Amino acid sequence: MTGLRIGQGYDLHRLVPGKRLVLGGLAIDSPVGSEAHSDGDVLLHALIDALLGATGLGDIGDHFPPSDPQWKDADSTVMLRHILAMAREKDYQPVNMDATVFLEKPKLYPCKQAIRENIAGLLELSPDCVSLKAKTAEGFPPIGTQEAIAAAVTLLVRR
Ligand code: MG
Repeated sequence: MTGLRIGQGYDLHRLVPGKRLVLGGLAIDSPVGSEAHSDGDVLLHALIDALLGATGLGDIGDHFPPSDPQWKDADSTVMLRHILAMAREKDYQPVNMDATVFLEKPKLYPCKQAIRENIAGLLELSPDCVSLKAKTAEGFPPIGTQEAIAAAVTLLVRR
């Protein structure tokens, strides 16, 4: 089929006490949070990279360099909206997304549906086109020891 393109993205952040944990644009109740230049939302960062990959627009570091003070403590939702606008400028529309979040704690299932709905709203998709899975790491470091959180996203777009 013509006009379809796929992208993948991955991100990992260190988890530290006293920071907020933001995932898919929502603050999650957690004793540890992401240490990052921005809000450390691994899921939206992986999604941004998947979207940039699918549309051939570079990577997250090209658009939001850590050296740029404009994006210090940036809301990843604003970053995603910025890249979505660029993609739409080139006539690309998201079709569906499949994501895996790798973390030991907290369990994601209580907020999974809310995250799916939030991302679906951002991508202008129905929630059944936004899949979210969670995996633990069986206690192995750094994810299993709660020192890190990671996310992998595959995104299909059409033109
Ligand atoms: Mg990141």
